Amino acid sequence: MERYWNEEIECASREEMKKLQDERLVAQVKHVYDNVEYYRRLMDEKGVKPEDIKGTEDLCKLPFISKADLREAYPFGLLAKPLKECVRIHSTSGTTGKRVVAFYTQHDIDIWEECVARAITAAGGTDDDICQVCYGFGLFTGGAGLNGGSHKAGCLTLPMSSGNTERQIQFMRDLGSTILCCTPSYAAYLGETLHEMGLSPDDTKLRIGIFGAEPWTEEMRRSIEKSLGIKAYDIYGLTEISGPGVAFECSEQSGMHINEDNFIAEIIDPETGEVLPDDTVGELVFTSITKEAFPLLRYRTRDLCVLTRKKCSCGRTFVKMAKPMGRSDDMMIIRGVNVFPSQIETVLIENGYSPNYIIEVDRLNNTDTLDISVEMRADQFSDKVKDMQMQERELANAIKTMLGINPKVHLVSPKSIARSEGKAVRVIDKRKLHD
Ligand code: ADP
Ligand code: ZN
Repeated sequence: MERYWNEEIECASREEMKKLQDERLVAQVKHVYDNVEYYRRLMDEKGVKPEDIKGTEDLCKLPFISKADLREAYPFGLLAKPLKECVRIHSTSGTTGKRVVAFYTQHDIDIWEECVARAITAAGGTDDDICQVCYGFGLFTGGAGLNGGSHKAGCLTLPMSSGNTERQIQFMRDLGSTILCCTPSYAAYLGETLHEMGLSPDDTKLRIGIFGAEPWTEEMRRSIEKSLGIKAYDIYGLTEISGPGVAFECSEQSGMHINEDNFIAEIIDPETGEVLPDDTVGELVFTSITKEAFPLLRYRTRDLCVLTRKKCSCGRTFVKMAKPMGRSDDMMIIRGVNVFPSQIETVLIENGYSPNYIIEVDRLNNTDTLDISVEMRADQFSDKVKDMQMQERELANAIKTMLGINPKVHLVSPKSIARSEGKAVRVIDKRKLHD
């Protein structure tokens, strides 16, 4: 039987949810207009007054806010509560440039933790579970978010933080952890280390994984599920909106339910800003309707994905977002073709290679070059040069079929590509150095 953390909200009818969102949105716009001079100016420039916003249908009248605004207003310019009422600061990981900071009141933390508790419950976690949190602790929202949500859900929580992989496995075994929370790339590394230590999934009690903070493919999910003997669930979030738990996967494992009582999602055309219908790929935009300290309206995430309202077998009525394909700024344009790292990852794992790879893009004589270094597993290694060259050609052909452009593939020896304990960095675009 499906369990919910907050059934009344998670399974509310569309009419109930719309009513709640309308009320909260109207109050939030007023709160922001009255307290955030930066956003008031954006609204005034667009000629919108708080009274013009009567419900979610008026959302499109509001101006967008972007990471550039957050950087401009850094550090206090978007704060909507006196610092005295704030209890916490977090910061983005800085994956795509200068870090930005976000503030939380105790009320904001409580809501965030409830969102994560909903995610843990949807993955099947209960107060019988032992939850090992190996996201980094500190300014990054991963550790603190999962730690707080795990407490709220009543799990016995192990705030391990990232790193020291063998100790992670030792604690996992000694204490009998049943839930693992970390980035998917670190989960893959933990699986690999377990096997290298001569152990199998049967030597642990793990049953559930809650992985997010970076894009990962279905192929990666299946590979982690196998190596750790678990069911792996996706969790999504971003510091600007709160942290992990903005959206989470349920037993159906096909897309993430957005906590719509707190966050209104829209998909827009990244070029024109026009709102797109459900089931169309575009840029995800969030409006936080319950945040007190750092309430962003129509925040452009740059994450590309699809929203769908198809009925979900779990009974939740929250809209679902597909796995983000990556960010608009992760997309590489190579010889005029749009390429996402996730497309390359899919081909690698489908062809039996590890998720340890580095993509290098450069420009030589005015032509883009694409070099992919892929780590072999020990059993794929051959000391016959001809065999290796043949394997490289086969893989290059498979990638060409997917992308339409020819890469150069380099198979490199096992363990030669550095493992990531947090968000993996897999693309080196040297063209930027020449520009
Ligand atoms: P930064 O933007 O510096 O990486 P955050 O740590 O706040 O800062 O990361 C938020 C971003 O991480 C999201 O905008 C998204 O691009 C990515 N992300 C988070 N969870 C997922 C997920 N489950 N799948 C894909 N991408 C994710
Ligand atoms: Zn569901």
